[in-house]
Amino acid sequence: MNKKHILILGAGFGGIYTYKSLPQWVKRDCAITIIDRRNHFLFTPLLPEVAGASLDQHSIVEPIRDIIDRNTQFIQSTVISLDTTTNTVVLPDREITYDILVAGLGSTTYFFNTPGAEEYAYVLKDLDDAVQLRARLIDTFERASQTDDHAERERLLSFTIVGGGPTGVELAGETSDLLFDTFVKQFPNINIHEITLTLINAGDDILSMFNEKLRTYAAQALTTANVVIKNNLKITEVRENGVVADDGTFLPAHTIIWTAGVAANSLTCSCGSFNVNKGRILTDEYLRAQNTQNVFVIGDMSLFPTEDGRGLPMTAQIAKQQGVLTGKNIGRLISGKSLERFMYKEKGLLASLGAFDAVAQIKGFHLKGLVAWFLWRTIYLFNFASWKKRFMIMFIWTINLFSRRDTTRL
Ligand SMILES: Cc1cc2nc3c(=O)[nH]c(=O)nc-3n(C[C@H](O)[C@H](O)[C@H](O)COP(=O)(O)OP(=O)(O)OC[C@H]3O[C@@H](n4cnc5c(N)ncnc54)[C@H](O)[C@@H]3O)c2cc1C
Repeated sequence: MNKKHILILGAGFGGIYTYKSLPQWVKRDCAITIIDRRNHFLFTPLLPEVAGASLDQHSIVEPIRDIIDRNTQFIQSTVISLDTTTNTVVLPDREITYDILVAGLGSTTYFFNTPGAEEYAYVLKDLDDAVQLRARLIDTFERASQTDDHAERERLLSFTIVGGGPTGVELAGETSDLLFDTFVKQFPNINIHEITLTLINAGDDILSMFNEKLRTYAAQALTTANVVIKNNLKITEVRENGVVADDGTFLPAHTIIWTAGVAANSLTCSCGSFNVNKGRILTDEYLRAQNTQNVFVIGDMSLFPTEDGRGLPMTAQIAKQQGVLTGKNIGRLISGKSLERFMYKEKGLLASLGAFDAVAQIKGFHLKGLVAWFLWRTIYLFNFASWKKRFMIMFIWTINLFSRRDTTRL
């Protein structure tokens, strides 16, 4: 008898946790294939630390082949489309059929059709983005240190982050430590007053999902760390040398980083189209694409129906929980049992504000400062898939307590 073929698209939070929670008998009795365009799992929550030079890029990734069993097949390739009538996935060089499909291809940066944003702004979505951004920050300081022209140094050392959500805020905290602490010590001819770091936020407050006290705390902490926060400002255009806001003001900046939006990764279906809302594929209560029996869609690319119609946010903890349930539900589907409904369990919110400072909102507890920062680090460490990487990160973080960030430009 032919083995059932389970095909997992995307080895991110959703895909990897689906795989990990497949029952052992499914791993033994079925053929399992994972497809991803990169050969590693990326722990995205620590991307700001790579950009800010407090972690190196290898410490936040894990090779997929270290995660999977020997009898699971991994294909490094890009998924182009799929056909749910013939159960086929199309890759650039071949087509693969499946019995059960899990699609967890994540999301991409969304620029809200802002002219110039894609062209001129740096983003922080992938490992390459973090590495490029870190290189840009180092190069800019090296260049600025070579001129005696004060105005030119001020021009070069102007940095703007667009987006006051967790990614923008965490990046602002990390960048602030790198610019105003490490670089100021490493470049004695640069005056701290020549550097500007601006965080632009479209809403009334940064970190809008946190409670008011924590929002205020976060804003004060960043301001103390030399970050200039500009609320209620929407960016309507990005230029090579700055951004234009909706009130018409032009804010000069030599380096612009866009963290303001994400959009689901689109997956074209050659047999017609999925039921899509805001680019995300609508699922039923079991996380299957609507009107399908064997296609699960999880993580950022799925829109799980909620009462307010907005769907669940795009977060790693949701993708992980959806992956865990999908792995178990695949076992139930194969053995003819009824599937379990997805119920999201909110575990809390955490955001780092740079070294030794963070905010945390967990099950009614509101924490800030060193305690929240310690909690943030511990929780992130234990969310990592392997002990090897946990120890590695713990080791680097400990060394960082006593030494400068590594600003080697590779
Ligand atoms: C900088 C940053 C910080 C974040 N911080 C947090 C945080 O602190 N807490 C939190 O809960 N969430 C955080 N998130 C959000 C979190 O990363 C996502 O919600 C989560 O990764 C979604 O999981 P996923 O499995 O849907 O997608 P991903 O984890 O993005 O995985 C998608 C996978 O699909 C692969 N892929 C994509 N397209 C193709 C294709 N066409 N062919 C083949 N492979 C493909 C990708 O290579 C990737 O491996 C952060 C995100 C970013 C960018």
